[in-house]
Amino acid sequence: MSRRRGIPFVVAAPSGTGKTTVCRRVVERDPRVEFSVSHTTRARRSAERDEVDYFFVSPGRFDELVEEGAFLEWAEYNRHRYGTSRDALDAELARGNDVLLEIEIQGAAQVRERRSDARLVFLLPPSLERLEARLRGRETDSQEEIQRRLAVARGEIHAASRFDFAVVNDDLDRCVADVTDIVRGCRGGCEVQLRERFAPGTALERVSA
Ligand code: 5GP
Repeated sequence: MSRRRGIPFVVAAPSGTGKTTVCRRVVERDPRVEFSVSHTTRARRSAERDEVDYFFVSPGRFDELVEEGAFLEWAEYNRHRYGTSRDALDAELARGNDVLLEIEIQGAAQVRERRSDARLVFLLPPSLERLEARLRGRETDSQEEIQRRLAVARGEIHAASRFDFAVVNDDLDRCVADVTDIVRGCRGGCEVQLRERFAPGTALERVSA
């Protein structure tokens, strides 16, 4: 009997929307979902572990990987580069697991073009005011950095209209449950209702209201 192939799920969101937490929780809740560990040239933060949170590589090594065609997608974000390994993703999908790619928006657009099996989920902040408050609360970024991330976020929110699903993260548990429903629903082949429930246009209206 041939094993079912997994589905790649892209989860993108403006910085500070809480997508890392949401993705980690979805992976914890569902044993058939794995997290895609990206490569990055940025420095490791103190709480992060190499090969668990990211593969931390030098710019030179990143260049080699790009040259070898190792990445399904890659992008520069905030002066650092990030990429998704094609082989690691395919191996996990072949094992029958679904995979969450927690990536930024340029990378999501590349996945959209290159993989017709991918489903794209956009997480929206409840409002730009709440997003700013969250970025401040993280205390990892300078004032200048926060302002830059907010300006980027304003532009990024509109990309939600090109995604399959949009979920507003105004309550973490709810958002985790919604993304889990999307993953399970796509796996079970009942996407029509999901596309209605998580229509990007409706979610965007809620956020900008
Ligand atoms: P951070 O440096 O805060 O961990 O991540 C910065 C941004 O890069 C986030 O939006 C994150 O989702 C994104 N990112 C992480 N891995 C990848 C990747 O493999 N490809 C792309 N395109 N973006 C990524």
